[in-house]
Amino acid sequence: MPPPNRDDINALKQSRSVGLSYKQHPPQGPFDAIVIGSGIGGLTAAALLARYGERRVLVLERHYTAGGFTHIFHRPGYEWDVGVHYIGQVQAGERLRAIFDSITDGTLHWHPTPSVYDRIILNGKEYDFVSGRERFRERMKEYFPAERKAIDQYLKAVRGVVRSNQMFFAEKALPPVVALLAGRLLRAGFLHYARRTTAEVLHRITANRELIAVLTGQWGDYGLPPARSSFGMHAIIADHYFEGAGYPVGGAAEIARAITPAIEKTGGQILVSAEVSRILVDGSNRAVGVRMADGSEVRAGLVVSDAGASNTFERLLPPEAKGTAGFVQALKQIPPSAAHFCLYAGLRHSAAELSLDGTNLWVLPGPDHDRNVARFMASPDQPFPVLFISFPSVKDPQFELRHPGRCTIEVVALAPYEWFARWAGTAWKRRGAEYDELKESFRTRLVAELERYVPSTRGRIDYAEMSTPLSTRNFANYQHGEIYGLSASPERFQLRSLRPRTPVGNLFLTGQDVCTAGVAGAMFGGILTASAVLGRNLLSLLSGNSGRKAP
Ligand SMILES: Cc1cc2nc3c(=O)[nH]c(=O)nc-3n(C[C@H](O)[C@H](O)[C@H](O)COP(=O)(O)OP(=O)(O)OC[C@H]3O[C@@H](n4cnc5c(N)ncnc54)[C@H](O)[C@@H]3O)c2cc1C
Repeated sequence: MPPPNRDDINALKQSRSVGLSYKQHPPQGPFDAIVIGSGIGGLTAAALLARYGERRVLVLERHYTAGGFTHIFHRPGYEWDVGVHYIGQVQAGERLRAIFDSITDGTLHWHPTPSVYDRIILNGKEYDFVSGRERFRERMKEYFPAERKAIDQYLKAVRGVVRSNQMFFAEKALPPVVALLAGRLLRAGFLHYARRTTAEVLHRITANRELIAVLTGQWGDYGLPPARSSFGMHAIIADHYFEGAGYPVGGAAEIARAITPAIEKTGGQILVSAEVSRILVDGSNRAVGVRMADGSEVRAGLVVSDAGASNTFERLLPPEAKGTAGFVQALKQIPPSAAHFCLYAGLRHSAAELSLDGTNLWVLPGPDHDRNVARFMASPDQPFPVLFISFPSVKDPQFELRHPGRCTIEVVALAPYEWFARWAGTAWKRRGAEYDELKESFRTRLVAELERYVPSTRGRIDYAEMSTPLSTRNFANYQHGEIYGLSASPERFQLRSLRPRTPVGNLFLTGQDVCTAGVAGAMFGGILTASAVLGRNLLSLLSGNSGRKAP
């Protein structure tokens, strides 16, 4: 890729938000399909429906910019990503890269994160996750020489998940009759692992608590500690990063921008500040369009929802839609995933001045992640059970061009929604003194943690803003501030109804709840949905001969 010139950079700075305003650009129908929500799952489904089905698609996004958790936001002199810190399998030749290249026509470029993509800091001791599966294996054996066999067994179990998950997820896109006949067989391999918790699988492999703590040190990537997370989810995420990771050149907002032309090519539109309040269902129990929050209606013969399973079934569908009561009941068995705080820090120093690199830091207060969580839930003044420190400005080689002499850092921590629920009815920035005080107390703590673990930032933080679970609820519409949709528990993967087709005709689900948490997981959700709609196996078509498994 040629280096950007000054004009390119200025253009990039001016046009950071993606999508047209709904108010200023009313929908120019007719549309073949409406996609509710412009997360990576919704955008992927929309782009594929356009490209492989020639569909004219309207994407409606309630936020002021498109991208869902891949969007970015600004404050004077700074910008931060929200839900993209590193994405695995985007190196040339990888399956995910082939998919990104296909829906962006190769216009999205990737910058590799350092070969140590994650550093686990456990009780002050550091363990590096190095890219390359075999290098990872050897590094773990250097840290735990007495556990060589256990490490091999662990990697074998992860491989078992990766070998079986493609059939499990592909089954979701099959026509109902075929799924009924072959479904059990196709699902069995993955469920063998996914119905067990991460802790159950690891405790069978080793009794070494420190090794288990290190191997599960990225548990924040899926939001559930080992005794509650599905080993299927753990293994998918661990494997996702084994060969290292990448970050979009120009920042996370480039993802949505690069996908947009594929949607617009067939006359589609992406409209922002466009909240859907209802999915319209006719007397034959078929989705026929949507009602907007302003009361106007847009009709189309296909509706795809990327707004999450709970929002779709509990808030957007009318109660009289048939066949959904069982679904809603089943959803109640799967709690929402974790909510979070994020400290968005800005510094008037370049990354080089502060000697920052792009390695993510996972700070864990002790080897029992479940106990750490329980302790914090019972008493908020206990240590954070996990801190994730990320350096977005270092990962994007163009950041320095847009914001010379500056850098940004994010510190993510677990934060139960319940602690903030009583302010749910208040407006953003006007939640009252008590809320502000609580928020400030956590902000101060997170700043102190950042200065402790990244000492070069000490006394140099120029700007530090906090988000709480209510920010996630406000901006992404997840009612409990959840960051990964439904929680990645063993029960979730056994819930058969989490698939693109819904009991309502012409209504399809997409995104992370259909597949798994993470940009790749939500994107595969988009592929499954487009495959189910078009009756084509787009997964095979898109991934070409990369030879890697999904997600
Ligand atoms: C703090 C954080 C860090 C993360 N880090 C990473 C990471 O490093 N790597 C990685 O791979 N993944 C990461 N993730 C996860 C990843 O970002 C998500 O799993 C993924 O982006 C979800 O995509 P989605 O399409 O399912 O939904 P979302 O991105 O949640 O999009 C759903 C969209 O629907 C919109 N919507 C909802 N209701 C309506 C309505 N009624 N009308 C119109 N629009 C509506 C929302 O506003 C939202 O834009 C992170 C997430 C968070 C929150």
